[in-house]
Amino acid sequence: MPQKKVRERSWVEIDLAAFRANLRALKGFLAPGQNFIQIVKADAYGHGAAEIGRAALAEGAVALGVANLEEGKLLRIQGIAAPVMILSPALENELPGIVEHSLVPTLTDKTQAERFNDLAAASKIRQKVQLKLDTGMHRSGSLEKEFADLWTFCSNLPSLEIEGVFSHFASSESDPAFSKRQEQEFQRILNKYRISAPLTHIANSSALLNGLGVSANCCRLGILSYGVYTHPGQSAKIELRPVMTFKSAVAQLKTIPKGAGVGYNLSWTAARKTRCAIIPVGYADGYDFLLSNRGVVSLRGKLCPVIGKVSMDLLCVDATAVPAAALGDEVILLGNAEPELRAESLTARYHGSAYELLCQVGRRAKRHYYESRRLVTSAPMARRDFVSSDYSNSKLSQIIQSAIAQRIDSEEMGELISREILRVFFFNKDREILYRKDFHHSIRFEECDSQQHWRTFTSLSFSKILQSDFFTVACATSEQALKAYFKRRDVEYRWLMDGNFNLGEDSFLLTSVRVNELKLDTRIHFRNSCMEIRCSHPDLPALVGSEVRFRIDTQTQYPKSSHQLSVFITELTHGVKIHFSHPEALDRIEIIPVFSGQNKYPRITKSAGAITVSTKPEEWVFPQSGVVFAY
Ligand SMILES: *Cc1c(COP(=O)(O)O)cnc(C)c1O
Repeated sequence: MPQKKVRERSWVEIDLAAFRANLRALKGFLAPGQNFIQIVKADAYGHGAAEIGRAALAEGAVALGVANLEEGKLLRIQGIAAPVMILSPALENELPGIVEHSLVPTLTDKTQAERFNDLAAASKIRQKVQLKLDTGMHRSGSLEKEFADLWTFCSNLPSLEIEGVFSHFASSESDPAFSKRQEQEFQRILNKYRISAPLTHIANSSALLNGLGVSANCCRLGILSYGVYTHPGQSAKIELRPVMTFKSAVAQLKTIPKGAGVGYNLSWTAARKTRCAIIPVGYADGYDFLLSNRGVVSLRGKLCPVIGKVSMDLLCVDATAVPAAALGDEVILLGNAEPELRAESLTARYHGSAYELLCQVGRRAKRHYYESRRLVTSAPMARRDFVSSDYSNSKLSQIIQSAIAQRIDSEEMGELISREILRVFFFNKDREILYRKDFHHSIRFEECDSQQHWRTFTSLSFSKILQSDFFTVACATSEQALKAYFKRRDVEYRWLMDGNFNLGEDSFLLTSVRVNELKLDTRIHFRNSCMEIRCSHPDLPALVGSEVRFRIDTQTQYPKSSHQLSVFITELTHGVKIHFSHPEALDRIEIIPVFSGQNKYPRITKSAGAITVSTKPEEWVFPQSGVVFAY
């Protein structure tokens, strides 16, 4: 693998050329005409589902296999249109999403088959499904009678299409006799009930190597394609290169005297003067705790044993044999460098599972993808994960894309920019992106006793998912304070108060804060001359996680001398309506919209004493948009 300048505390290098070479070697074991499905569940065993998926499709995979709706949806958002099957049984609440994202579920149950049929009929599509037969593993799948029944039942549902039937081996790497019987069962049952489907498959990657599953027309490749052997006999049959290499760097070096203990509970004692290298990787980075006092790492080409317990963020190795070791030296923790660093060798040291180690490695690490020594792409650390639950149908991306394409008159640029925006919104943040819907803000100016002020009533309302059982509404008195409020997750809404007027209950009155029909309890605190209003209600906890309608009403004194009133959109918003009503005497008002998003020119309507600035309800408005009314 290429040497790279150390930029992160730990990182993962994915060798796409090694992956392709493994796949090509495995394809040599396919029966003539036999196809394969690439298994990319658990983010392709930690390698990155989209990147691996693309490489496998280019090598002829007929489909990708994932574990659940969430994983399938993420592939769709990342632009993969190929067939994606879900290997595990679906849960009730996943069904609509599966249909919406054209994923292929595995069925084991008639009620679910019916539900899929209804959902598909309602969307006027045919839903592809696969049926799973249990031939002896006794995990998911239906037993013979039930399976035959399910097959007949599904064949008669007009909106279902049976794309495949499959089964799974219990110990394909180590028990050829039992596996053979499972395969015979599979064929016997398909023949007996005259069951057929475009795809039939039973073999995983280890089975294929043992000559199993070639009676079916497809198979499912996982671990071997990632270059990890599952049985000692396999290396004689096929040469596989580890695709993943996990690296870090020496963060500290020190010499400890003979007799000194190392790490928590001092579980290792120096038998001689020892040069210790501290590596900033621990079990939270996926380096297994069971490698405490057992693991080895490679430093300047020498293997150094892990000494003491692996802690959450650090581990210590004995680098006495590497006198030249220096701070910042690259350390290889897992991967291609030495046979001892292969996942199967490391996990053998604690009787663990190589599958598990791959999935957990590099939870904190950025992944860098290489194509024959050239860095082709890097994946942000925390993108493997959150897909907004109301991000539907790739619609958002299409909308943003076409909007931008239209504006800058280039489809290609439009796509690039929108991808970048989406990446920022969805992947770079280690959390779900929330947005506001139907944002309505109305402001009413009235004459009052004070000659210097407008009495101002504002009412704003929007729908959004409630994140916690209380929230804060804040009035900042400076840009800087406002900025700080943006960083606080509990702050649901913020105002920037004009410097001209004093914050106080007489000049800023929060008339009411409501969530749906609940009128919230409000408690006011002043902090660094800003006002914070904590809003809560005993019934709020029950609403957390669901979409609610927020409504905030205020009454303020607005200085006439200000000569302008601005309303800003500070979050991604779906549909905006801003209404400003004013005394008719105020007849020369200039309206300056600064909108970014799908539509740069919101609709502006004026009547005597009122102005409305609005977008269509389905239009996206980006943060940093707003309107200024100058009077
Ligand atoms: C994970 C999985 C595979 C892939 O198995 P490997 O042993 O990694 O090749 C195949 N089929 C099913 C149903 C799986 O869940």
